[in-house]
Amino acid sequence: MNVQPTASHFVDGRYVEDTAGEIITVIYPATGEVIATLHSATPAIVDQALTAAKRAQREWAAWTATARGRVLRRAADIMRARNHDLSVLETYDTGKPYQETSVADATSGADALEYFGGLAATITGEHIQLGDDFVYTRREPLGVCVGIGAWNYPTQIACWKASPALACGNAMVFKPSETTPLCALKVAEILHEAGAPAGVYNVIQGYGAVGAALVTDPRVDKVSLTGSVPTGRKVYAAAAEGIRHVTMELGGKSPLVIFDDADLENAVSGAILGNFYSSGQVCSNGTRVFVQSGIKPAFLKRLTERLAGVKMGDPQDPDVNFGPMVSAHQRDLVEGFIAQGIAEGATLVTGGKRVDRAGFFLEPTVFADVTDDMTIAREEIFGPVMSVLDFQTEQEVLARANDTIYGLAAGVFTADLTRAHRMVAGFEAGTCYINTYNLAPVEAPFGGSKLSGVGRENSKAAIEHYSQIKGVYVAMGDVEAPF
Ligand code: NAD
Repeated sequence: MNVQPTASHFVDGRYVEDTAGEIITVIYPATGEVIATLHSATPAIVDQALTAAKRAQREWAAWTATARGRVLRRAADIMRARNHDLSVLETYDTGKPYQETSVADATSGADALEYFGGLAATITGEHIQLGDDFVYTRREPLGVCVGIGAWNYPTQIACWKASPALACGNAMVFKPSETTPLCALKVAEILHEAGAPAGVYNVIQGYGAVGAALVTDPRVDKVSLTGSVPTGRKVYAAAAEGIRHVTMELGGKSPLVIFDDADLENAVSGAILGNFYSSGQVCSNGTRVFVQSGIKPAFLKRLTERLAGVKMGDPQDPDVNFGPMVSAHQRDLVEGFIAQGIAEGATLVTGGKRVDRAGFFLEPTVFADVTDDMTIAREEIFGPVMSVLDFQTEQEVLARANDTIYGLAAGVFTADLTRAHRMVAGFEAGTCYINTYNLAPVEAPFGGSKLSGVGRENSKAAIEHYSQIKGVYVAMGDVEAPF
C-alpha cells in the first residue's frame, strides 16, 4: 500500500503542496521505516486555509441544517464502506494493531459523522413569552474553528471535532499531530466527496508553530485541542488573548478502583482495556489501579495469566493484538518512567523491557505495591504501564483517587450498587465508568475536569461548544422612554 498522500495539505476542496515547508517524516512505528514525507504548512498555506474557511463558512451556515446533516451522514457511509483501507492507513500512521483500528477508528469517526449529521436539524433556539412581548433565541455557529490533534487517534479526533463543528454551521481548519499526519487528509477527502463545499473542512500539516499561528489568527473564533496539559496551557492562554472559545481535551492519570466484591474476570478485563489497549496510549486510561486488599492476590494472579494472551507482531496482521509505541521518542519516555518505578521501589510484576525486534515495541508492564507519592503514580506515562496500589476502605480510596491534578476519567468495579453510585458521585472526573472501562460511544459526553480540560466532546453537550445563542427581544407595543 502506498501511503504517500497526493500532497501535504487539503485546502479549499483540493490537495495543495508548498515544498518550502519544513519536512515531516512519517515513520511506521512497527518497523522504523520512513513511509511518507510531507511538508509543514508555510504562512501562505495557513493563510489560504483560513481564507477558504472564512469564505466557505458563510455559505455553509446558509444551508438548511438538514442539508448539512445529509453531507455528514453521507460521509459516514463512505467512511464505513472504506473501513478496511482507512484502518490499514491508521495502523501505518500510529502502529496500533489492525485488530483495533478496524473496530475503533474510522468506525468511531463514522459514528460521530452519523450522530451529528442526524442531530443537525434539531439544533434550534427557543421562544420565551414576556406578556405580549417575547424573546426568541437563535442558535448560531461560532464561525471558523481550529482543531488541533494528538497522535493516538488521528481519524477519531479529526471526526470528533469536525462532526459537531460542521453540524452547527462552522468551518474548520484542522492540524493533525506531526507524528500522525496521514489519516485526517482522508477525512477531508471524504467530506468533500460527500458534498461539503470547498473550504468547509481543511487539513494543514505542521509542528507546534503552525498550531500556534492558527490559534492567534484574528479570523479564528474557536480552538479545540486534543493534547497534553503543557500544550493545553499554551493554547488556552493564546486563545484567551482573542477571547476565543476553547475545548481542551488534555491528559490524565485516572483511577480505576476494584473492590473485593467485584467480578474478578470483568475487573481484570477492565484493567487490561484501561491500560494496554493501543499499547497504553489512551488519554483516559485508568493507570492507577486501586485494588482492595482481599482481592489483590487473585487480581494479580489472573492479570498475569491473561497477559499471556498478548500477541505482539506486525500490527497489520489481524491476529496481533499489541502494537508498538508510536515513536522512538515515546518509547524512550515510557522506558524512563519504568526505570523510575523500579528505582522508587515499586514491585515489577511483569514486563518492563524493550522487545527484541524492529520498531518501538515495549512489553506490557505491571507494577504492584505502588504508593501515591511515586512518580509512576503521579505523572501521565502514556504507555503500557499499569500501577497497582493497595487500599482498605471506600473513604480512603476515594480521597486517594481524587488526589491528582488531573480529572479526565475514573472507574469502579463493585457488586454493591449503592457504593458504585456513591463512588461515581465523589470522583472528580469528567468521564466515569461502573463495572467497565474506556468505552467512548458518541452518544455519551467525553471530557475532563481539573487540568484534564474544559468542554465536552460527543453527545448533545458538544453542540454547546460549537454554537452560540443570540437573544432577540421582540416588542409588540409602543416603546416607553423617560423623556
Ligand atoms: P502534544 O500536546 O504534544 O501535541 C498535541 C498537538 O498540539 C499536536 O498537534 C502539536 O503539534 C500541537 N501543538 C504543540 N504545541 C503547540 C502550540 N504551542 N500551539 C498550538 N499547537 C501546538 O500531545 P501529543 O503528544 O500529540 O498527545 C499526547 C497527549 O494528548 C497526552 O497528554 C494525552 O493524554 C492527550 N490526549 C488527550 C485526549 C483527550 O481527549 N482528553 C485524547 C488523546 C490524547
